Parts: sequence; C-alpha cells; structure tokens
Amino acid sequence: MHLKEILKYRAVPLEGVYLCLTRKCALSCEHCSTYSHPLANESPRSKELVQFVESFNESIAPKILFLTGGEPLMLPKLVSKLTDIAHFAGSRVVCITGLFFASIENGSKLLNEIKNIDHLMISIDIFHEKQIGRNAIFKMLHKIRKLGIDISISTVGFGKDDLYLKDLIKYVRTEFEDQVPLFVNSINPVGRAKSFYSDIQSGPIALSSNESEIEGCKMMAWPVVAFDGTIVTCCNESVIDEDRPDHLILGHIRDTNWEAVRKKVTEDVILKAIRSVGPKYISRRFAPERACNGYCNTCKSLDTIQGIRQNITPWIQTPGMKILDDYISSYYYDKIIFNISPFSELISIGLDVNTIHKNDNLKEE
Ligand code: SF4
Ligand code: SF4
Repeated sequence: MHLKEILKYRAVPLEGVYLCLTRKCALSCEHCSTYSHPLANESPRSKELVQFVESFNESIAPKILFLTGGEPLMLPKLVSKLTDIAHFAGSRVVCITGLFFASIENGSKLLNEIKNIDHLMISIDIFHEKQIGRNAIFKMLHKIRKLGIDISISTVGFGKDDLYLKDLIKYVRTEFEDQVPLFVNSINPVGRAKSFYSDIQSGPIALSSNESEIEGCKMMAWPVVAFDGTIVTCCNESVIDEDRPDHLILGHIRDTNWEAVRKKVTEDVILKAIRSVGPKYISRRFAPERACNGYCNTCKSLDTIQGIRQNITPWIQTPGMKILDDYISSYYYDKIIFNISPFSELISIGLDVNTIHKNDNLKEE
C-alpha cells in the first residue's frame, strides 16, 4: 500500500481510525508530540483494543487502521493480532515506527511479528538520528522491503531551506533508487517541541492557514483512540491528552463499538457543523459577542455557548446545510489536504500504477 493511497483518504470522514497503542517508546526524541519515553506506561487495555477492532465486522469497516504511539512496535504481538483482525474486516493496516530496533542486536527478529502489516511509516529526522545512526536505519529498511512491506519516510524539519531535510531527501532518493516516498512536514509546537519552538516559527510549511471564516475542520475525519482508551474526534494533541470537552468525545473502547462511533460522527449536530463550516463560523454565528481564540481553541469551547445544541439543530437540518455536509464528506476523496509544498511531489515517489493495487480492494469501491 503506497503512501499516497493512505493520504488520499486522510480527510474523508471515517475512512480511517487511529489507535494510540502505547505512550511507551524506546527513544526519547526532543520534539516528541506525545511526550513518549522508555518509562511511559500509559496504554489502552489490549483486550478492549481487540474488542474494538473486532467490531469493524459489525459495521462498515474503516479502510485504514492506523497504529500509532509512542512506539506501537513495543507491542509487536498486539500489532500482529490487531492487523489480522482488521484484515478480516477488510481494513488495511498502517503502523508508524521510530525503528528503535534498528540499533539492537538481533532487532530484525521483530520483523517476524509484523510481516502482515500493509504499510510501515518510518519516522526519521534530526532528533531520531541523534539516537539511531542513519546506516543502521537504512540497513533495517532494506530488510523490511525484502519482506514485501511497503514503506515510507515521515520526516519533519524547519522549512524548505532546512539543510538536514535536503540532505535526508537526497540520501533516501539515492539509497532506494526513487522507490520510497517521503512525507515532509514542519515541526509543530506541540508536546516536547513546545519547549524550543513557537507558533510563529512553524510558518513555512505548516498545515493550511486559511484565514477565511468558513473553513470546515479537515482533521476531524479520522477518530482517535487515545492512550486511556477514550475515543476522540481528532488528532489534536491537547484533545487526545488533556483538554477534552464532551462534544469532542465519541466514547470509550470498553463500551463503544465502531458502529456507535460512525453513528455519532455522522449524526451529531455539533460535529457536523464543525466538519462543514468550522468552529470560527459557528462561534461567530451563535455567540457573536465572543472574541476568536484560535481555530482549535474556539472548537474546544463551543459547548460553553449557551443553548448551542438546541440552536444548531434546526440550522444544521436545513436542506442547504445537508447538501454542504454531503458535499464535504465526498469532496476530499482523492485530495491530499496537506500543504507541504515544496515537498509535495515526494509523496508520489515509487508510485507504480501497475502495482499499487496489489491486494487492493479499494479499487472497486
Ligand atoms: S520515536 Fe516517535 S514516539 Fe518515540 S520519542 Fe521519538 S517522536 Fe516520540
Ligand atoms: S479541536 Fe476541533 S477544530 Fe481542532 S482539529 Fe479537533 S475537531 Fe478540528
């Protein structure tokens, strides 16, 4: 499964779901958005994760199950088990890893547990490379590719002129003869990166900064199972970790199945409005006296607007809003939402129209 196949569904509601398997990680990168480290021990219960993924069978399964952390490969047997269950329901499985085992003697033994994964996304950046040498990483990547697992490189840097990024991109393209795609993004001031990086600095290749008032939230498309098993609407780090208003919670994996998540995402009036017109417009319309406090902060405070649910309900049910919601739900198919210019073309490297659909049941859908 090629990187571009994954990204083209990223903004389509319910076509994917993220599971945060563990906050634990063998590494301790300075920029880590999840504050992961070797002694972290927060994880959803394995039994409940299995039960949740099994529930894909009872509904329309997401196309992509995205396993993340921390380091999901700290739990390789669980990764393998969840992958088999997801495959049975028709989903495909992507796992992101910092490849900690590349520097461990016999680390490649771990590959036996993850042969069934459809795509391994490898995090490499200046912070990872302080802990694992590039040679060890690339040696392991060759072994992974020999197993037939598709891979991509996920990296972050400080804008288009970042010398580290330029060097890495050149190195990857040469080493893998233009067969391994790269996803290049900016460092964001979240998690540990907050200590050394500010919002202002993150400008050059940050996600869209469209300032128009009507801007539906594209990041609300794939629900996230957080480290305590709570299911939330989006991958905003503060929603996952600390600051969860009720209207952005979809349930908990101990008692919420995929069908119930789908129902809430598609039917809840506040979520529909966030997806269609975005939090700034909602706030301006239903609480015009409030000052805008930023896109996500406005979203997180929507439930404090008096009578918001009652007021939004008749409005969201008007024919015009229904058409807009349906339009938004289908509009993002095949569209890459990330504004990662000038690195955009790197996501298509190695895309071979004759092979990307191997084992690919998406073709018919
Ligand atoms: S490898 Fe990933 S999860 Fe682990 S510390 Fe680094 S950024 Fe965080
Ligand atoms: S907090 Fe709201 S606006 Fe921000 S990503 Fe999440 S759902 Fe979207």
